[in-house]
Amino acid sequence: MADFLGKVKQGIDKGVTVVSVKSKEIMEVAKIKNQLGTLREEQERAFLILGENVYQMYMQNGFNEEKIRTKCEMITLLGSQIQEREVNLAQLHLRAEVALGKSFCTFCMAELSVGAVFCSRCGEKIAELEKH
Ligand SMILES: [Zn+2]
Repeated sequence: MADFLGKVKQGIDKGVTVVSVKSKEIMEVAKIKNQLGTLREEQERAFLILGENVYQMYMQNGFNEEKIRTKCEMITLLGSQIQEREVNLAQLHLRAEVALGKSFCTFCMAELSVGAVFCSRCGEKIAELEKH
């Protein structure tokens, strides 16, 4: 009976950990997705403004290259901020999975089976990578 209760308790402890890891992940993911939404809207608006400006220049028979360049750089900057957050999202997910006891190949990100020495997808040696 004590053995049975011990197993139940173990299960509950594990459950709490899974829930807290998952809820933390969900909260952080929501925050980043919110930022992503804002950045994408800003980028969309920047594209529209660029298009309007270029059209106005066309109508006035004079392309202001400096002005176009500045707008393009702005769009590129927003793009890299978007990309950064997309990477963050992937990392967050991976970190939560690791916290739940899973391990991943640091080379190709494939999930590793317990005790594996080589990654089954890319063949990367795992023993060396686990020092990190
Ligand atoms: Zn791999």
